[in-house]
Amino acid sequence: MRIGFGFDIHQLREGLDFWLGGIKIPYEKGSYGHSDADVLIHAICDALLGAANLGDIGKHFPDSDPRFKNIDSKVLLKEVDSLLKKNGYSINNIDSTICLQEPKIEKYINEMQKTLSHCISLDQENISIKATTSEKLGFIGKKEGVSAYAVVLIKKNNF
Ligand SMILES: [Zn+2]
Repeated sequence: MRIGFGFDIHQLREGLDFWLGGIKIPYEKGSYGHSDADVLIHAICDALLGAANLGDIGKHFPDSDPRFKNIDSKVLLKEVDSLLKKNGYSINNIDSTICLQEPKIEKYINEMQKTLSHCISLDQENISIKATTSEKLGFIGKKEGVSAYAVVLIKKNNF
């Protein structure tokens, strides 16, 4: 068993689509970034890569590479998953927290779990997604940004 940790942060800007946990959340603002800027998927990718000691998301999918412009982060997650498999690992479970002031996302969590579960063929019961606000403090409280934290356990397969 190996543990991995991931963190990501993005600006929220008006007029952009808000991709979070692989689904589009209805909101007046969206995450700004080179890809679709899905902060939760990026944190999970970094945690998975970290657990396998395979570097970070910026190393595998650099934002200077036009191939990743506006890319669906679910594609990145699938690539990270297959990279782990190639290295003989499978995912045991994921625990994550999204830090966001607005909108309320509790009602979307089940759909996010389902979506991520399909991406990496991991049972939904092994994908935990939690949400918190920052009690109106700082840039998250001012609705200027969104962040996510993820912890994963992976296991080496015995052949
Ligand atoms: Zn990101």
